[in-house]
Amino acid sequence: MSQPDLDTWRAQVRQWLATVLEPARQPESTGEPADLAVFHNLPEDEERALLERCRAHQRARFDAGYQALTLPEDVGGAGLTAAHAAAYAEEESAFEVPPSTELISVTVRLVGMAVSLFGTVEQRANYARPFLRTDLLACQLFSEPGAGSDLAALRTRARQDGEHWVIDGQKVWTSGARFADYGLLLARTDPDVVKQAGITAFLVPMDAPGVEVRPIRQMSGGASFNEVFLSGVRIPDRLRIGRPGQGWEVATTTLAFERTASGSGNRRKGGTFADVLALARSLGRTGDPLVRQRLADLYVRTELRAATVDRVARTSAAGGRPGPEASLTKLMASDLLTRTGQVAAELLGARISADTGEPGTYAWTQHLLGAPGYRLAGGTDQIQRNLIGERVLKLPPEPRVDRVPFSQLSGN
Ligand SMILES: Cc1cc2nc3c(=O)[nH]c(=O)nc-3n(C[C@H](O)[C@H](O)[C@H](O)COP(=O)(O)OP(=O)(O)OC[C@H]3O[C@@H](n4cnc5c(N)ncnc54)[C@H](O)[C@@H]3O)c2cc1C
Repeated sequence: MSQPDLDTWRAQVRQWLATVLEPARQPESTGEPADLAVFHNLPEDEERALLERCRAHQRARFDAGYQALTLPEDVGGAGLTAAHAAAYAEEESAFEVPPSTELISVTVRLVGMAVSLFGTVEQRANYARPFLRTDLLACQLFSEPGAGSDLAALRTRARQDGEHWVIDGQKVWTSGARFADYGLLLARTDPDVVKQAGITAFLVPMDAPGVEVRPIRQMSGGASFNEVFLSGVRIPDRLRIGRPGQGWEVATTTLAFERTASGSGNRRKGGTFADVLALARSLGRTGDPLVRQRLADLYVRTELRAATVDRVARTSAAGGRPGPEASLTKLMASDLLTRTGQVAAELLGARISADTGEPGTYAWTQHLLGAPGYRLAGGTDQIQRNLIGERVLKLPPEPRVDRVPFSQLSGN
């Protein structure tokens, strides 16, 4: 397909955004920024209300043709280049977008994209489209107690029984599972081949008998992720995504989308450089040479991340799946989030650890306690470095000692 001219398209996006959103508010000079939480800590009714606000915006975006920008048209996307997606994000940052949640991001940017790419025509109509429009919400049932960085070691089993599959196992750290309609689940369907080859992906209805969701309380106070137990969960074969044994390809594609989403800066997570600058101003600290150095360092890193997102977007091929370069932007984004919290904590001193009622100070605690989570989610910093080393820089790979059937690995 011939691509629309980037500048003309960008102008159309800006015009559309102005019809549905208010212009972005700058952080107040009082140092009281809007929302510094990396993870929300809301009672259930407020969480549901937030989800509804997010869904209304995602639906408007879908209906205007601005969802799934880089997915090929034949699988329900807009078929545009990553540069168009980056331009959309840039334009959107000038507007007051409803604060998104992990579940919205996982539904649209991860599961919706993966089911579009790997689903049948019927699955695209029944699931991918409703996920991209957030009519249905989906969580990501990948990690297990013994399978995080080494995801291919997962032990949740799916056994075929005629036209059905029966699933037993446990997942953990599942963001948004309490509010999800479906979960994209990875399960072992063949233990007698190497671990990556014996995995299959399924969509599991979260209200199916045998699915139990238990929230996990985080140090930031909220419970945005959960444990999910699956006991004899019976699902029809039509909910299998991709071929039996194709689950690892579904997983790596989904994770590459996750790194792109996490690194893109599309969704506001915690405080930004502008928030820290507003804080320094409100505390009267911008004349301090050490504070100025810290602010300058943060500014440079913020600009470098934005430039890298842009460069990776421009060099990515049009349409389809993100490449290993997504690890670069994910790593820079998690590093920036951590450093932003550190500079705010240095500025605030003891005030960050107690709510004194002083505007815009204790709010940074939410940032500080949430930021470490992003060094882990979607693959840890160390795993991103491994991916960059092996797949971007083409350095020698880590030694692999597990190229034997999964059932022959110790403990299985
Ligand atoms: C906020 C948040 C949300 C999440 N949401 C979801 C979700 O919705 N769905 C889901 O399935 N999962 C989710 N996760 C889980 C996440 O994917 C895992 O936490 C992550 O992959 C790390 O796995 P692990 O916690 O088991 O740590 P481990 O894999 O046990 O790692 C422990 C430590 O060892 C290091 N390490 C491990 N292997 C290597 C290696 N080869 N080289 C160098 N260092 C290594 C790691 O970097 C880490 O520091 C979420 C996690 C967080 C924090």
